[in-house]
Amino acid sequence: MADGFLTRLREGLFKSRQNLSGMVDDAVADHRAVDEDFFDSLMDALILSDMGSACAEEALTRLRAKVKAEGVKETARCRAMLQEILTDMLDVEKMPLKWPMVILMVGVNGVGKTTTIGKLALRFQGLGRTIMLCAADTFRAAAADQLAIWAERAKVPLVRHQEGADPAGVVFDAVQAAKARHADLLIVDTAGRLHNKKNLMDEMEKMRRVIDREYPDATVRCLLVVDATTGQNGLQQAKAFSEVAGVNGIVLTKLDGTAKGGVIFPIIRELKVPVMYVGVGEGIDDLQSFNAKEYVAALFD
Ligand code: GDP
Repeated sequence: MADGFLTRLREGLFKSRQNLSGMVDDAVADHRAVDEDFFDSLMDALILSDMGSACAEEALTRLRAKVKAEGVKETARCRAMLQEILTDMLDVEKMPLKWPMVILMVGVNGVGKTTTIGKLALRFQGLGRTIMLCAADTFRAAAADQLAIWAERAKVPLVRHQEGADPAGVVFDAVQAAKARHADLLIVDTAGRLHNKKNLMDEMEKMRRVIDREYPDATVRCLLVVDATTGQNGLQQAKAFSEVAGVNGIVLTKLDGTAKGGVIFPIIRELKVPVMYVGVGEGIDDLQSFNAKEYVAALFD
């Protein structure tokens, strides 16, 4: 499992490595002394990897303190120290799995929400769990159609209503079906219309109320899907969704398609929630559990 994870992540982050790893290597090679000039070069490398200035500053402040405390004189030693600091910054404890569970998937259209739902359904099915899907994005008929394709592929039941139906109504039916079938996991696809925040917030609250009332035994989680290729936009989306939906975990998709892997740092810093999974391709197997150490190792390899 760990081997597969590392290989895929490394393949996915290949372009990121050319940036962060290559630039850190250059900084180390170009500087003999651990001085301000060296730290400036590291700062550039971190910022160019989409980490944002606040996270880059934090990483360097910690590095400076460590360098001072340990009396480090060689720039080469700073590479491993930086790697350790970045790992620590991403290491937020994951939530335990607790069945039965309802996962509300949120995120703007196009980030890979539906694909991730399909991958998750297959993943948990492979672990012997019974899964149901719910198409609560009733705004776009295409969204439910796409979800239906994944449901068929994963051979899991899907609850859907017609276009324009009340999302909370679909959730109500899906919850009844999940209880009747003793499903372990119900994954709910929600609308990604961030431009109408008030509507989206009302819609999310209504769905939550239905789940809390009809399914009090269930653990409810809200996972935000973020497209790694959107850079700092991903951070803006994360902030907005955490305001409307009470996000408690992140899925970072399309790491195979980005030259940078740093946007995850400001998102974690801002939301203070763990990254649960990463998407490294369009295939059904291309979803991996997130591991901070392996992620940063892949960035630095
Ligand atoms: P949604 O609108 O958020 O539901 O997004 P979709 O699930 O429809 O995905 C949008 C596009 O992104 C599709 O073409 C997917 O195949 C693609 N996609 C999703 N996840 C990944 C990933 O991890 N890597 C790559 N390369 N593409 C992905």
